[in-house]
Amino acid sequence: LVSRKNQPENTIIDLKGITIGGPTQVMVAGPCSVESYDQLRTVAAALKEAGVKVMRGGAFKPRTSPYDFQGLGIEGLKMLKEVANEFGLVTISEIVHPAHIELAADYIDVIQIGARNMQNFELLKEAGQAKIPVLLKRGIAATLEEFVHAAEYIAVSGNSNLMLIERGIRTYEKWTRNTLDISAVPILKQETHLPVMVDVTHSTGRKDIMLPCAKAALAAGADGVMLEVHPDPQTALSDAAQQLDIPQFMAFMNGVRESGLLK
Ligand code: PEP
Ligand code: MN
Repeated sequence: LVSRKNQPENTIIDLKGITIGGPTQVMVAGPCSVESYDQLRTVAAALKEAGVKVMRGGAFKPRTSPYDFQGLGIEGLKMLKEVANEFGLVTISEIVHPAHIELAADYIDVIQIGARNMQNFELLKEAGQAKIPVLLKRGIAATLEEFVHAAEYIAVSGNSNLMLIERGIRTYEKWTRNTLDISAVPILKQETHLPVMVDVTHSTGRKDIMLPCAKAALAAGADGVMLEVHPDPQTALSDAAQQLDIPQFMAFMNGVRESGLLK
């Protein structure tokens, strides 16, 4: 179903008038984790100022260690909803449990399926029942074929409002957190009709190369770029090392716009 052979024209996702997969590209930004109203409002205000209309923020955090912050859960989704309404933004947040898929639509605009859950088939099937779009992340060590099959699980279960996002894969390289597979962008655009985005935060894990990697993503044909921004990254409850602070985010956005690559 997701194959370009099956549907030659692009799937375009409409989020309250913001389109993804069409002629314009979209920037998605926000904190790794939703931590508080204050934190979220500060980020939302920066997004608004920078002209970014889609906010991300994790409420359910699939952490490598069970001792790390696990997210605010439903309370975090409520915060996203309230702040998004206040600032006129649309939201993306990760759901990790099949039982939360249906309820997510009450709070957020897009369900994110995280890298660690790309092959959680029961979650994928449930996401196929969702009434709202799904953003599927590439698994940590998933081939493109496995990624496309995972998307097919969601589509065949009934939800074709589907987007893909390359977030880096695990390789032997240690100077980046993951290896950004830029070739995934044109390949996924050719093989499927779905919007394809690039997460420059988790793929690189490095603030100093986010701008060139975002430019590369846009130049390669990505329909959008995602990054993490936090009012005070040092105190962030997750991904403290790689989130941009607000001035860095503003500079990043200026750089993206000055490149002329953001259509
Ligand atoms: C995230 O985007 O919040 C996240 C946890 O990323 P990933 O699933 O790609 O590791
Ligand atoms: Mn993160």
